[in-house]
Amino acid sequence: MEIIRTVSWMKQVAQQSRAENHVVGFVPTMGALHEGHLSLLRRAKAECSRVFASIFLNPTQFGPNEDLSKYPRTFESDVAKLETAGVDVLFAPDPKVIYPPGFSTYVTVEGLSERLEGRSRPGHFRGVATVVLKLFEIVQPHFAFLGRKDAQQARILQRMSLDLNLDVELQICAIMREPDGLALSSRNAYLDADERRAATVLYLALEAACREVGAGIRDALTLQSTTRDVLAKEKRARVDYVEVVDANSFEPVARIGSHPTYILLAVFIGKTRLIDNVLLEPSPDSGDMICSL
Ligand code: AMP
Repeated sequence: MEIIRTVSWMKQVAQQSRAENHVVGFVPTMGALHEGHLSLLRRAKAECSRVFASIFLNPTQFGPNEDLSKYPRTFESDVAKLETAGVDVLFAPDPKVIYPPGFSTYVTVEGLSERLEGRSRPGHFRGVATVVLKLFEIVQPHFAFLGRKDAQQARILQRMSLDLNLDVELQICAIMREPDGLALSSRNAYLDADERRAATVLYLALEAACREVGAGIRDALTLQSTTRDVLAKEKRARVDYVEVVDANSFEPVARIGSHPTYILLAVFIGKTRLIDNVLLEPSPDSGDMICSL
């Protein structure tokens, strides 16, 4: 695997791959790689002839009181995982390479960026959209593989790609979970043993909502309060939000059933903020709801 640190060399390698008619798949990450990241790489490997990954801990998507300085940095073991996964090129630039002195251009995806994660983390999606647009320009992939774990982020990046006529197709991939249901996340490393046990409550809450959907409940307020009730039973959990939203607009819905819908949640376990979601879609054949956790 080639490790590239500069924009000019990365662009040259990207152009060469395109000139050789490769189908280029790209997986952007912030490092501290886990099985969730590896699942995206496996899919890229299956669908593309060259796979590029990036590790860039993007400072502009962290708020002043967030965890940038303590975010896990595990570069050596990340490189080993990427090698094993068969990644062809790792782009791992220094922040100064991405944001040189005088940098002053930012991308804002209006509307979608202001709700939910955007409301709790002002400026977060501006930082995400800006860095991902830059990475797409530098890496020039045909396909980018993103996790549904960050459903709002994936939707915002789809919107950006459409609005700015980008030549990259986004593939949204399933959420990888621990055996007890906790969604894999680099931030799980912050949890102590008691918090780790408590953190399964996010999954249990979404699972309870899915059971209600299975029993025929379609009212969003009922699903929301079921989810909140389960979360309330865990004393280490403090809810930031629980919302039932349309999967395209991310606007709240009153009833589920006719369009794809998410139940999205953000919960503090101790000081660690975790997010998770379930996608609810009407089955094209039976009209039953399919719950994808
Ligand atoms: P991050 O390193 O947290 O920026 O994540 C990089 C990519 O991995 C994003 O597209 C995430 O949505 C995705 N990702 C993170 N956790 C998971 C997971 N548990 N399952 C699948 N994809 C994930």
